[in-house]
Amino acid sequence: MDPNQPPQQVQYQQQQVVSPQPAVTYVVNNQNTFGTTPCNFTCANCGYQGQTYTSTEIGAFALLLALVLFVLGFWCCCWIPLILDGCKDTSHSCPQCKRVVGTKTVM
Ligand SMILES: [Zn+2]
Repeated sequence: MDPNQPPQQVQYQQQQVVSPQPAVTYVVNNQNTFGTTPCNFTCANCGYQGQTYTSTEIGAFALLLALVLFVLGFWCCCWIPLILDGCKDTSHSCPQCKRVVGTKTVM
């Protein structure tokens, strides 16, 4: 009862797959992450880290509201949605390279 087991020589094949480091993927900020106030972000264009520069612009909601007021006969005040910040879209851009990184729409 002598187990005569020859030593098994296992040859390991070492495979070193040198995979290149994946490129840094930037989180694409969609409209939901941007609000009406400046928020922290990392610019994918110039690498700036900080708060976004926000500016308001007349969006579809303001135009639609103005049109509705105009149709309803409120000609004297149909322009009000066009100047109210609450009815405007907020555009977030990089203060360093001026690239627009996101837009917060009212609707
Ligand atoms: Zn930038």
